[in-house]
Amino acid sequence: MADKNNKVPENVPGPWYVDNELCTPCRVCLDEAPELLKYNADESKVYFHKQPEGDAELAHAQSARDVCPQAAIAEDGE
Ligand code: SF4
Repeated sequence: MADKNNKVPENVPGPWYVDNELCTPCRVCLDEAPELLKYNADESKVYFHKQPEGDAELAHAQSARDVCPQAAIAEDGE
């Protein structure tokens, strides 16, 4: 289960984040929310470079969370 105290460091502030230990990274989520998620510099993790705004982006974030096989994406951050 994702832990808000263990965000990928590059994750922008806000409720949505990727857990730094759980992300493998398998890249499945990138296809669901390409406008929100991307690889970090060495492609070892994925992070939210933008928080979702509006219904469409929120739906993409929710889809990314739902497809993540590691349950590494959550929305209980600050
Ligand atoms: S789907 Fe989950 S484990 Fe895979 S890259 Fe995205 S956050 Fe990481």
